[in-house]
Amino acid sequence: MANAKQIEELKQTLLERKELIINNINESRESINSLKNSECNDEFDYAEVSSDSFKEGIIANQQVKELEEIEDAIKRIQKGTYGVCEMCDESIAIGRLRAKPFAKFCTPCREIYEVEK
Ligand SMILES: [Zn+2]
Repeated sequence: MANAKQIEELKQTLLERKELIINNINESRESINSLKNSECNDEFDYAEVSSDSFKEGIIANQQVKELEEIEDAIKRIQKGTYGVCEMCDESIAIGRLRAKPFAKFCTPCREIYEVEK
């Protein structure tokens, strides 16, 4: 079980990561907007612009998803349920939390979950 000090450290990691993602998402959105606003004079340019904004969109979506997971983890810290597996109620190993601070499941449950998916 992660102790209070470890949870505090993980919370800082989560908050830093959250800030980074928010900045990245804002930057992606800005570059998509500037691409949309840029003049496209021929089809080649248009294809370039579309594929870039498409990629940016995918990156932004992944980050939005991670952001949700991070916010969820911060809520669990506040509720005091952080670091406990949502499937089996066992403590999640500190090593796993350090690698993935927003982990919801312990390693064995995560493996079962991934196999079932
Ligand atoms: Zn579990």
